[in-house]
Amino acid sequence: MKKIIILILCICTILLSSCNKSKGASEQTNNGNDIHGEMLYYATWNDRIVRFDIMNKRASVACPDPLCDHKDIDCPVMAIDKLSVQGNYLYFVKGNTNIDFKVYCYDLLNGIIYEITECVDSTVPIMINEKSYFCAAYYEYDDDGNVIRELWDMYRYNPITKELNKLSTDPWPGMIYLDSYDESRITWNCDTGGDPLYFSTDYDFMNILYIDYSDMDFSLDAGDYSIEGQIVWDAGTWSETLFKVDKTTGERSMIIDGVATSRYCEIGDTFGYLYNTYFHSNDGNTLYFLDCSTFSIRKIATVPDGYSIVDVFVEYGNEMQCGDYVGIRVTNIESDVYSNSMWIINIRTGENFVISFEE
Ligand SMILES: [Zn+2]
Repeated sequence: MKKIIILILCICTILLSSCNKSKGASEQTNNGNDIHGEMLYYATWNDRIVRFDIMNKRASVACPDPLCDHKDIDCPVMAIDKLSVQGNYLYFVKGNTNIDFKVYCYDLLNGIIYEITECVDSTVPIMINEKSYFCAAYYEYDDDGNVIRELWDMYRYNPITKELNKLSTDPWPGMIYLDSYDESRITWNCDTGGDPLYFSTDYDFMNILYIDYSDMDFSLDAGDYSIEGQIVWDAGTWSETLFKVDKTTGERSMIIDGVATSRYCEIGDTFGYLYNTYFHSNDGNTLYFLDCSTFSIRKIATVPDGYSIVDVFVEYGNEMQCGDYVGIRVTNIESDVYSNSMWIINIRTGENFVISFEE
């Protein structure tokens, strides 16, 4: 039961904080990858970084080595653990149970991959003001050489000068995620295994101020409401219900029921919630967009015949937008391979098509 509560808390926290931090959070997810005049959507795909060329409707492994066959671990974009697209850079963490973790910066304009650091585990770097921040772990050992625990440090990397600075003076007990930021401070939360530990620092990760979790402001900029999510468990599957809560009266009213899977995205300046549901369309294959400011809902597109949606959800930092386009994993129902294609949708116009990635 505790796990469920934690999961619900996590999902609510992600939901609420994402809707709240309209600028901070949304800027991180809006990456128009307009490199060399192309429209490229990057995603991790079967352990590799794959680029989906939206204009030419083609997919290929995003490997800068023309002689590489992308079949083994020597391929620089294989064994990918985490990926984030940040303007002209891809940041990724490579590693698994067989190879050590390393953090990389892929300069897309010049087609060069730089190793940033080696570690035990890492968050994916997020860029703020032209520099990227990430948290990387190392092991603490006892006198006999046994691992006692993982400890985490905060780093800042400058992709222009390649300078890497360790910012934390003392290590932290858990992974630290970026929550939001303004002109002078960054808010973080540290995963300590229990309640999330919120705190803010200046841009040098100094002058730490702890924040009472219950004091976190979840209000939307535009209105007098907050949005709350609630998970509904039924026969081993779960769906999510979203409510809007009047901040003056506390009155709750339902906005969406039966959300199957979802992610956050932007249409222009409108920050919203992209989702599929088994209720509205009865098959889960239609995509809807909730405007987080006005609470209006509109239908975006239905997956082409012969395909079904695998999941709208995307692990934070793994795949994002390319202009107005998002990619959603789908399955060609005549194929034996699950999750074998990417459905590319323009969430402003509804234009959509499927790109299959042949191995
Ligand atoms: Zn390769």
